[in-house]
Amino acid sequence: MASIVLKDIVKKYGDGFPAVKGVSLDIADGEFVILVGPSGCGKSTLLRMIVGLEDITSGDLEIGGKRVNEKAPRDRHLAMVFQNYALYPHLTVYENIAFPLRLTKGQFSQEEIDRKVNLAADTLELRDHLERKPANLSGGQRQRVAMGRAIVREAEAFLFDEPLSNLDAKLRGQMRTEIARMQRRLGTTTVYVTHDQTEALTLGDRVAVLKKGELQQVASPRGLYEQP
Ligand code: ADP
Ligand code: ADP
Repeated sequence: MASIVLKDIVKKYGDGFPAVKGVSLDIADGEFVILVGPSGCGKSTLLRMIVGLEDITSGDLEIGGKRVNEKAPRDRHLAMVFQNYALYPHLTVYENIAFPLRLTKGQFSQEEIDRKVNLAADTLELRDHLERKPANLSGGQRQRVAMGRAIVREAEAFLFDEPLSNLDAKLRGQMRTEIARMQRRLGTTTVYVTHDQTEALTLGDRVAVLKKGELQQVASPRGLYEQP
């Protein structure tokens, strides 16, 4: 687990108008921060820079106290969960969860992989579904498999990009509870992008409001509505 510190982060795509215009934010080790804001305000861009899928134009990004601007995604030890899950259709639930462990060649024995996958499956109540393929799962179960892949990485932090936006209202409620429970149990630093107001007000320790590439406000969920 690690802190994430953004220092005056700027992102320009090509020679266009900056998508992110100098964002500074200190996210403490173990903290759960929600990132909200209108479509196009730079939320995804910010997440993608943190995970390393997008270059930072200027500013400093520190993870666990170390500057990581130039580090490849694999060396940042983060786990990102996307809204479309990105599961492999031809692999079972077990193999989907095990996938990140198999990528790191030779590092984990089959026994260790077994232990980690089963632990994640227990945490997410997927034990009875390990041999099934994604096509035979519900939306909520698929979302849990995607989270299982994040858990087995034993990442420094979780990054969620609107993970529940494809689910119906009932499932969204269930998954919200589950994500909150998982984050509390694991205590992993989390940045969570959403435009769902209920998620913003119930999940995080703090809510950061982004508007046109700038942080407009950072407050506790209650503080957000207690304007000065
Ligand atoms: P959000 O996630 O808040 O909807 P984005 O981070 O996707 O916002 O986009 C922020 C701004 O950057 C938008 O104006 C968008 O058009 C622009 N943008 C995003 N990705 C690219 C890209 N790959 N190339 C050029 N412009 C981009
Ligand atoms: P490869 O290591 O074979 O190039 P990928 O292209 O899938 O595999 O991923 C490259 C690196 O990016 C991985 O080693 C991993 O550390 C990181 N990575 C892949 N997917 C994610 C994710 N969902 N969240 C965070 N990091 C990821």
